[in-house]
Amino acid sequence: MKLRSFQMRLLLWGWAMLILALAVAFYYSSTLVGSELVRDTEHISWQQLDTVKWLLREHAEFDSEQAMDVWAKTLSHKLGSRITYIVNGRVVADSEMEYDKIAFMENHGKRPEVVEALMDGSGMHLRHSTTLEKDMIYVASTMPSCAGMPAGVLRLAVPFSKVQERLNSLRINFLWLFLGILAVAAGLAAYLSRNMGRSIRAFSEVARQIGEGNYSMRLRSSPGGEFQPLASSVNAMAKKIEFHIQTIEDQKGQLRAMFEGMDEGVMALDSGGRVISYNAAMDEMISMPETAVGRTPIEVTRRYEIQNLVDRLLSEEIDFVKTEIDLMDGRTVDVSGLPYNDHHGARRLILVFHDITVIKQAEKGLRDFVANASHQLRTPLTSIKGYSETLLDNPPKDFNDARGFLEIILKNADHMNKVISSMLALAKSEQMGKALKIAPVSGREVLQRALDDLIPLAEDFGVSFDTELPEGHGLEVMGESDGLLHVFHNLMQNAVKYSPKGGVITVTAEVEKNSVAFCVEDQGPGISKEHSLKVFERFYRVDENTIDGHGSAGLGLAICRRIVKNFGGEIWHDGYGEDKRGARFCFRLKAPKAS
Ligand code: ADP
Repeated sequence: MKLRSFQMRLLLWGWAMLILALAVAFYYSSTLVGSELVRDTEHISWQQLDTVKWLLREHAEFDSEQAMDVWAKTLSHKLGSRITYIVNGRVVADSEMEYDKIAFMENHGKRPEVVEALMDGSGMHLRHSTTLEKDMIYVASTMPSCAGMPAGVLRLAVPFSKVQERLNSLRINFLWLFLGILAVAAGLAAYLSRNMGRSIRAFSEVARQIGEGNYSMRLRSSPGGEFQPLASSVNAMAKKIEFHIQTIEDQKGQLRAMFEGMDEGVMALDSGGRVISYNAAMDEMISMPETAVGRTPIEVTRRYEIQNLVDRLLSEEIDFVKTEIDLMDGRTVDVSGLPYNDHHGARRLILVFHDITVIKQAEKGLRDFVANASHQLRTPLTSIKGYSETLLDNPPKDFNDARGFLEIILKNADHMNKVISSMLALAKSEQMGKALKIAPVSGREVLQRALDDLIPLAEDFGVSFDTELPEGHGLEVMGESDGLLHVFHNLMQNAVKYSPKGGVITVTAEVEKNSVAFCVEDQGPGISKEHSLKVFERFYRVDENTIDGHGSAGLGLAICRRIVKNFGGEIWHDGYGEDKRGARFCFRLKAPKAS
């Protein structure tokens, strides 16, 4: 239903009331004035009749009826009223009729005013005069015999049409006045209501804008006092909503920042189990399709385990479900599902994906480490135990036989010691990596120290060192001298151990753009391609029998890799090849920035 505008209603009502008021005023005033005029005219008619009666009584005797007729005509002319004298119904004199025609006038004894006068002494009647063709007021009064005239009825007729004319002109004047008032009032009402309509529209416009979410708007002017409480309520409501919206926006911003900054992938699902939103970590973890929103988890993740988890949470009254899935790229993800109820009470879900690959790897690393360490320690320990028991149970007579056993026990004990020291060194280097403060170190000096330390060992093994270093260069690198010395020791010791007698170990250094690369090359058996990466893993040994030959624990290169990584460098083996035999281990460290 289309509502008529407030302005139009106001206008129509205003006009209707005005027209009614003016119509009532017009009717009342015209009726009142009309009856006043009639009363005045009647009064004047009676006064004139009295005057004429007095004049007639005072008049000298008329010679004839014609003399009286002349008198009546003269007086009538002065008074402006018709004067008639009637005796027994016969008109004796009449101011409006020529005298010679008077005799032919009809009997006036039956005229109502005459009849009334004859009965009561005076009478009055208002009617249309056929003689004069006008509305007239007739007043009549009996007259005794006077001025030589017999007793009769004196009648005066005052034209009523004059009253009517005055009344009509009065009505027309009134009408014009009322129309003028109506026009001015209507114009004024239209102007006022348009003004009011305009301010109501402005008021409504502000209210509409507030309703559409522009909560900073306020209703400052109102169309009238009645609107003030409404304006205050709307303003208070807008202020409150603005505050709530700001709070919600702030919280939303915080949540969004948290949501996007999280390492965990988060996916929100609606009550139908379809994706509503997800964060960047989620996308990075599962690589969500662009059209993920609105689809089911199985469609976007292709993992039935996640779909099962979602289906369970949506169908059963459970508060928390967790599962672990292995992704195609080798990562392990822990998925937790948490239901919550939205404002309609519908059950929705939040899935949190936590990448636990590192934890899993650490767990596996620890397991492997414990297994390897146990294995490394158990073998020599078994040997020590066996030889010790033999010595105790069956002590050889000859000490030289016992010495051989004791030497084996010592060798195994040394190996155990080496394994334990290496494990401690690895743990230390792994721990130090976090707090290590690296600084420029002279690679040339550290290398020289390593050479000085290892030359005696090399001599024992019948091998020699050869160095090829750039002239006049300190070979400064970013690192820490003890760690660097450890790396040189390890690589050079291995080279010594695996070199054939008379072999030459070449240590080279190459200054690169922002780094320095060191290599230790020997002429030993070398390391095949399949082992060249694995030798850096903990406890990895190329030859399982190394313990008997060189007592290898397989931790030395792992420690070297950790130390070099701590320095921000890299280490690798590139000694394999068609024409090559020996091993060649290299590592590269960053050079200090030129100041
Ligand atoms: P360890 O600390 O017990 O010496 P490493 O980690 O240093 O063990 O070495 C791991 C394995 O790599 C050794 O068991 C050995 O088989 C092999 N290897 C290391 N250096 C050389 C080399 N220069 N020539 C041949 N094999 C080597």
